[in-house]
Amino acid sequence: MKSRFKAILITKQDNAQKVEDVELSPADLMDGDVTVAVSHSTVNYKDGLVLGGRSPVVRRFPMIPGIDLAGVVEESSHPGFKPGDKVVLNGYGLSETHYGGYSQLARVKGDWLVKLPDAFTAEQAMAIGTAGYTAMLAVLALEDAHVTPDRGAVVVTGAAGGVGSVAVAVLAKLGYRVIASTGRTEEEPYLKSLGAAEIIPRADLASDPKPLAKERWAGAVDSVGSKTLANVLASTSYGGAVAACGLAGGMDLPTSVAPFILRGVSLLGIDSVQMPMPRRLQAWERLARDLDVSKLSAMTRTIPFADLRQAGQDIVAGQIRGRVVVDMR
Ligand code: NDP
Repeated sequence: MKSRFKAILITKQDNAQKVEDVELSPADLMDGDVTVAVSHSTVNYKDGLVLGGRSPVVRRFPMIPGIDLAGVVEESSHPGFKPGDKVVLNGYGLSETHYGGYSQLARVKGDWLVKLPDAFTAEQAMAIGTAGYTAMLAVLALEDAHVTPDRGAVVVTGAAGGVGSVAVAVLAKLGYRVIASTGRTEEEPYLKSLGAAEIIPRADLASDPKPLAKERWAGAVDSVGSKTLANVLASTSYGGAVAACGLAGGMDLPTSVAPFILRGVSLLGIDSVQMPMPRRLQAWERLARDLDVSKLSAMTRTIPFADLRQAGQDIVAGQIRGRVVVDMR
């Protein structure tokens, strides 16, 4: 085990957060029954907020940010894991209450770990990351709500982002007609290469929402929230369902009960952080089956640890296409 390793640390003094690159030793880590040599992490929207140093996400200080990690077990007193096991961790309070993935060494609870599926390398698992795993949770929720490809199209908002890109690729592979909503219409070739059948401009869903509008899709994966989600609901066809997973456009939801009581539309809440383990395992199994790895690599860029903080700024500014992997080695 490395006696010194690199990490990012957030401290708080006089209500101001300081984000800095540091060197730590294993004794500085928090308690846990598994120690992981982290080879890769990633940058999700939430990571960008935290790296900006103004986010309420962090609930104890100091904190190592990074909601995801992948690597190899170095030490374990957990019965499910032994040294050499390849593992992945998404959420479970990482970067909120427990030290996260922006650290070359992590000590965590074994109960939070998923064995790396055979289908993926650690780098690919982080190309998926919380964003991709959340996209899969949204697809599973739509399936549970009986939104099948024969029922009609599915719209994906924030389509060129991380959740959106994986949702487009998975839904298209499953045979859905995918409508991709994006503020970056220049990304049309990219979104079509992932499998989108139609691209609509973000502005189409940004106006003041009416209670009901023309029925345009049977389902939705929404990363944006606010007026966008309200407009998505208003255009969801009879008996359809909308998986709400994000707030890139705002935390509010200016809607009415009309889609629910007049069209029987369902609003499905998606939380990845505390999702119980059986559903996590199901999501990873389904990603192994339903996400084309060539599409995954087309949507992913790998950066060194040194570029992580810039990528955090870029994702909050909506400038990241698809997914970013951080090589932690
Ligand atoms: P990204 O930044 O990669 O994607 C978000 C996308 O939303 C952007 O790429 C952009 O897409 C669009 N967007 C950005 N700003 C606005 C805006 N002001 N109005 C409308 N659209 C906008 O982030 P992630 O994919 O990592 O995360 C997406 C959302 O999902 C975030 O809000 C994140 O917090 C949430 N999330 C929630 C999880 C959960 O457990 N519920 C887990 C993971 C993520 P385009 O340019 O194509 O329009």
